[in-house]
Amino acid sequence: MPDSTSRESRESRESRESTASSEPTYDAVVVGAGFAGLYTLHSLRRRGLTVRLFEAGDGVGGTWFWNRYPGARCDVDSADYSYSFDDDLQQEWVWTERFPAQPEILRYLEHVADRFGLREDITFGSRVTSAHFDDASGLWTVTTDSGDTVTARWTVMATGPLSSARIPDIAGLATFTGEIHHTANWPEQGVDFRGKRVGVIGTGSSGVQAIPVIAEQAAELTVFQRTPGFVLPARNRPLGPGELAEIKADYPARRQLQRQSHGGWILPPPVGLALETAPDVRIKEYETRWAAGGLAFQTTFGDVMTDATANETAAEFVRSKIRETVSDPVTAEVLCPKGYPLGSKRVCVGTDYYETFNRGNVELVDLRATPIEEIVSEGIRTDAGVHELDAIVFATGFDAMTGALGAIDIRGRDGVTLRDTWEAGPRTYLGVSVAGFPNLFVLAGPGSPSVLSNVVVSIEQHVEWVIGYLDHMRSTGARFAEATLEAQDEWVEHVTGIAVGSLYMQADSWYLGANVPGKPRIFMPYLGGVGNYRNLCAQIAADGYRGFSTTTELG
Ligand code: FAD
Ligand code: NAP
Repeated sequence: MPDSTSRESRESRESRESTASSEPTYDAVVVGAGFAGLYTLHSLRRRGLTVRLFEAGDGVGGTWFWNRYPGARCDVDSADYSYSFDDDLQQEWVWTERFPAQPEILRYLEHVADRFGLREDITFGSRVTSAHFDDASGLWTVTTDSGDTVTARWTVMATGPLSSARIPDIAGLATFTGEIHHTANWPEQGVDFRGKRVGVIGTGSSGVQAIPVIAEQAAELTVFQRTPGFVLPARNRPLGPGELAEIKADYPARRQLQRQSHGGWILPPPVGLALETAPDVRIKEYETRWAAGGLAFQTTFGDVMTDATANETAAEFVRSKIRETVSDPVTAEVLCPKGYPLGSKRVCVGTDYYETFNRGNVELVDLRATPIEEIVSEGIRTDAGVHELDAIVFATGFDAMTGALGAIDIRGRDGVTLRDTWEAGPRTYLGVSVAGFPNLFVLAGPGSPSVLSNVVVSIEQHVEWVIGYLDHMRSTGARFAEATLEAQDEWVEHVTGIAVGSLYMQADSWYLGANVPGKPRIFMPYLGGVGNYRNLCAQIAADGYRGFSTTTELG
């Protein structure tokens, strides 16, 4: 890592920018200070490169900075949902729970930023509004809403797959006189719901975590549900020092396993095929996974995520649990997910979710039966009448995978915009590079396995691969890197080809952009698995970055 005296002050660099056009202000600009941006910044600095990271929020953490809603936590084991790049870091950090809560993950990322001295190269409270490539100088010009304009040779978009929060366009929203919150933009000081009538719209992963906690505090809670999810019990628990020590002792092997796995997490292997297992044995196996908690239920059998009939056995098991748990049979039926396969929308992992509907102060509104008509000053009007509320919580999700990138005016060669290029849906090579946008890298983007995995594992792989590519360029004297159109077309075809015919196509999910009206319906993540993808990327690098144009001059 270069010492701070070897780095020019930001002010002197930026003033130099106004006088010299071909010398960049920084070697690289990184956008976003979540898991991806922080590791990118650290890695680039270790190579002696000058970097400026712009972050819209006032602190590091990304997802874990913004999503402070009650109950927010991870559903991947803490020991796995963490960086592996520094052994001292993974040995010294003490996770307290199996599934860490938002404050603990945020503390961890703040610790990482401090430990590696990252903050001095980050501009907080600064949203990047445009990034333009200049064909003449071969540099990117990046501007922010706080008045910065800098140039850089490389731009890395670590803007997050789930960072562009969405409040649906419901008539009358502005007339509501109570409080309005979105789970992904939660006030730092928290929200006091005591004595209040609260409405939560949305029952995806965020709603499922927030609802039981809000129910404990609010006077009344009304849950507005459009599509019920499959909610698996978390069975979260404290992580004992002995257990953590064992994990730490085994870290090298454990990390290796994660990197080569399908999902980047360590789950018990499937116990066979559902369709080849006798019904009573099948139920027993589902019971075992249900009791253990977490995502492992989804892969109890090897055919659950590939065969609709097998999937239905798992789905029906979950429905039986809902009917067993929820006392009112009508409410139970409304909570039962039907009509799409388990896992084709992201499964939710919750604590006491179904039990919450047995509370006297909780009401479930089925928006399929009584849709929202409008928001009025005193609450939400469905076609069955007005639900009077003091606060509305939108747990309505994100413009996923492309939302944060689409919010930036990104222009590549010849001034072509990314928005126009992606009008019919995102197109990338390996999820990291876009033809026509030289020296621009996207992390955890569309076309990569990111959101179908333990995202931290995918992020580390992406960052290391991009840094490896930059090392290659610098050692060969190349200045420009960009996906070729042919390689990109082939990759998009491959990503789509795996998705077509899979169970994932049978749900209106955010993976497909179905949650955003007007968004092209394209399956955005790569279904091929973390390990396969990693090996493929490594092979592409070994083949001299096959499918990329790596040049000293712009062609
Ligand atoms: P982010 O953490 O989203 O960081 C992106 C940053 O970029 C944000 O801080 C944002 O402010 C900033 N940014 C965006 N646009 C701009 C701009 N124009 N200018 C400046 N800054 C900008 N994944 C899992 O694997 N397991 C889980 O259990 C899990 N739980 C999750 C729970 C929640 C509530 C959510 C929302 C997501 C969860 N995820 C989970 C996915 C999670 O997003 C990733 O695991 C990971 O945190 C993504 O890191 P990132 O750095 O790519 O993006
Ligand atoms: P989400 O999964 O997209 O859920 C949004 C919810 O809002 C859905 O129930 C959706 O209903 C509903 N909704 C959207 N627009 C609506 C409208 N106009 N009227 C009524 N309902 C509407 O978003 P999320 O819950 O924030 O989760 C997003 C992703 O973040 C997750 O899939 C996961 O990857 C990650 N996450 C993970 C965890 C975790 O436990 N680790 C926690 C939170 C988030 P429809 O389904 O009908 O569209």
